[in-house]
Amino acid sequence: MIKLGIVGGGQLGRMLTLEAKKMGYTVYVTDPTPESPAGQVADKQIIGGYKDEKTTRELAAMSDVVTIDAEFVNDEVLEDLQKKGTPVHPSPRTIRIIKDKLNQKKFLKKHKIPVADFLEVSSEEEIVDAGKKFGYPFLLKARTDAYDGRGNALIRSKKDIPLGIEKLKGRPLYVERFVPFVKELAIQVARNTKGEIKTYPVVETMHKNNICHIVIAPAPILTTQNKKAQLLGKKVMQALKGAGVFGIEMFLTKDGKVLVNEIAPRVHNSGHYTIEGVATSQFEQHVRAVSGLPLGDTTMVMPVSVMINILGERNGAVEVKGLGRALSLKNVSVHIYGKKDTKMERKMGHITALGDTVSETLARAKKARKYIQI
Ligand code: AMP
Repeated sequence: MIKLGIVGGGQLGRMLTLEAKKMGYTVYVTDPTPESPAGQVADKQIIGGYKDEKTTRELAAMSDVVTIDAEFVNDEVLEDLQKKGTPVHPSPRTIRIIKDKLNQKKFLKKHKIPVADFLEVSSEEEIVDAGKKFGYPFLLKARTDAYDGRGNALIRSKKDIPLGIEKLKGRPLYVERFVPFVKELAIQVARNTKGEIKTYPVVETMHKNNICHIVIAPAPILTTQNKKAQLLGKKVMQALKGAGVFGIEMFLTKDGKVLVNEIAPRVHNSGHYTIEGVATSQFEQHVRAVSGLPLGDTTMVMPVSVMINILGERNGAVEVKGLGRALSLKNVSVHIYGKKDTKMERKMGHITALGDTVSETLARAKKARKYIQI
């Protein structure tokens, strides 16, 4: 029986654990919060931070293979563990490239993958200069520890610059040209340890306050745009090393260009719909990929899948209401992540609806979302 170690016990770790348990694996996780979402369903949780050297080593000593549920991990320790014989997927080198968003952009540019123009900045003056070069608005972004919009500031005019620096303080920064996209897209691509690659459908993602709210699969875009996004996803995978599922976020521009926005070296929110919507979910696929098993079929089960995130709307202890009403709707599934406290905009769960058309499936998913309170 394979022992899988996961650094990180959030909702991604939880959904990975559930799939691994389905296949009879023993699963260990590390997370700083006792009874973390993954810790509740794993065989054991070690209490420890994502970057904690001691607990990362402890986890590896217990596991046949180690993976991650976020990129903010101690890649140096993971690299050392890998050298000493514990398989770590994705490769710690890939994690290192990706976790610094500026290095990630430089890497993509080097591999001739289209991205928004960017500039490294280390002072307010350099940010002002970047504004002169790119024009307003532009994005000021934290290079590290940035997720769910917590690492971005939209700079509309010169007077927003000090506010942006304050919002992102304590982290190295870079500046990105604003992309006036018409749609945001994403794709999951999997590679197993034997080099087999499988891509999932291209999806449309809709964000509010920099946080993903809705995912529509497949993306309602032209076949040519779809092909471009698929090819780009494959190109990114060819440039990156390592096994596992990768989430690749993209922008579609008015003139039909596709740019890569960001890569996640792991399962991704834009792929949650695959649990019900695709023959092999991204979570099962990741478990297969990191343990050298053949990759599963990525065909959609029904013509359309819509995923809506359940984000916190208040601060306080969790109390789930409306589950029955939401589940009375046809082909609707509700996932609740088991977090003890709800917070404004915190990812608490998600809803997936399957159907035949985008408009009807989206309407049903939205109806279900309205019923749920958390
Ligand atoms: P990120 O965390 O960098 O992926 O950004 C989160 C969200 O901010 C994206 O999904 C977009 O909605 C928006 N965003 C990020 N970068 C840009 C950009 N260069 N131009 C326009 N919008 C952006």
